[in-house]
Amino acid sequence: MGGGTGREERGESMDFALSEEERSIRAAIRDLAEREFAPRAAEYDRTGEFPWDNVRLLAEGGYLGMTVPPRYGGAGASFLAFILCMEEVARACAVTSVIFEVHNSLHIEPILRFGSEEQRERFLPPLVRGERLGAFCLTEPSSGSDAAAMETRAVEVAGGFRLRGQKSFITNGGQAHEYLVFARTGDDPGRRAVTAFLVPRDSPGLSFGPPEAKMGLTASHTTQVYLDDVFVPADRLLGERDHGMRVALATLDAGRVGIAAQAVGIAQAALDTAARYALERRQFGRPIAEHEGVQWILAEMAADLEAARWLVYRAAWLQGQGIRATEEIAKAKLFASTMANVHVPRALRVLGGYGFLKDHPMERYVRDVKVTEIYEGTSEVMKMLIARGLMERTRQGTGAG
Ligand SMILES: Cc1cc2nc3c(=O)[nH]c(=O)nc-3n(C[C@H](O)[C@H](O)[C@H](O)COP(=O)(O)OP(=O)(O)OC[C@H]3O[C@@H](n4cnc5c(N)ncnc54)[C@H](O)[C@@H]3O)c2cc1C
Repeated sequence: MGGGTGREERGESMDFALSEEERSIRAAIRDLAEREFAPRAAEYDRTGEFPWDNVRLLAEGGYLGMTVPPRYGGAGASFLAFILCMEEVARACAVTSVIFEVHNSLHIEPILRFGSEEQRERFLPPLVRGERLGAFCLTEPSSGSDAAAMETRAVEVAGGFRLRGQKSFITNGGQAHEYLVFARTGDDPGRRAVTAFLVPRDSPGLSFGPPEAKMGLTASHTTQVYLDDVFVPADRLLGERDHGMRVALATLDAGRVGIAAQAVGIAQAALDTAARYALERRQFGRPIAEHEGVQWILAEMAADLEAARWLVYRAAWLQGQGIRATEEIAKAKLFASTMANVHVPRALRVLGGYGFLKDHPMERYVRDVKVTEIYEGTSEVMKMLIARGLMERTRQGTGAG
């Protein structure tokens, strides 16, 4: 496995059981998502309105910042429990799942991991209570996959830093109260001197573009973020100065497990919909579920979905153990997002012409699932990460597997 360490060290035991707590958390959020999120998903998709009522329900249920230890107000749940929740929320409403993911994985997790004790005590409780929503600002107009090539700059001044630049594609943009912003703090590009800052929405000089018009996830607002000489006090610097890329990359590792779970959740929703329809719809004198061609579509999807789910759970388990699992996570995200983008459009075909109508959620699943191959690292970037580990092990003679 990845990193050249032994298989035993990387937790290759065969215990597939979820804990009692994980099972009960999953049952509770499944109930919430089916009751509250699923019935409203089509309407949010149509209007593009930000689903604040769903965010509030997640806060009331204790799901925002659910992995945060109780001393900062969280439930202290396992990372795997969070991933199970991502899957269930995505199955009901992909929009709500990406808001949940960015808040928990891309904003709260880095504060937990890289924040000082003072920062954790100050920033985490209102994020866990849902009084403040978080965002993550790495991508820029001219730097996406090559994030370290960012142009946003932070210049040190008395008492803090002044930030200038532009961030693109920011989920929760304009809606979030807190922005984790990455900015260049050195001139030497080889050193990748980047620093992470926690920037509140009401900072003078911080502004937002309108929500981008997207093919899917329409109600998860994605905006440009403009930083025009924004002053950030020194006590809002997260982690070490000039080591912000470490914060970004470690954060994205955790985040990618969430996106992989999102792909699994959307694919499960598509499979559920197609299987139900196949039992109801009759052609040639019998339910289409009795035609072998339809059964094969569903069976192949079910098998690949199950494989993706276990890759995702394993990546989540490794991440939760604090084991660096960049490569396993990349494999899980690559496989799950590819699987979902192959099978969800096939599931739509089971509905025939009805799959093309907005009366059914299937066309929304096809649109929403596309971006799982793109954000938090494209499939090509996932392949780069997998190949890097594989080549390293081959060079060391420890085997490519
Ligand atoms: C809905 C949505 C929400 C998002 N939310 C956020 C957010 O909250 N915060 C944030 O910071 N960003 C966010 N992003 C940005 C997202 O992470 C980037 O779009 C993604 O990382 C790809 O960057 P890019 O779009 O600039 O594409 P590019 O990096 O320009 O890539 C274009 C194409 O080239 C390929 N490519 C690039 N480099 C290589 C290489 N070395 N080898 C092979 N192929 C390569 C890519 O795989 C892709 O196919 C979001 C994007 C979307 C669509």
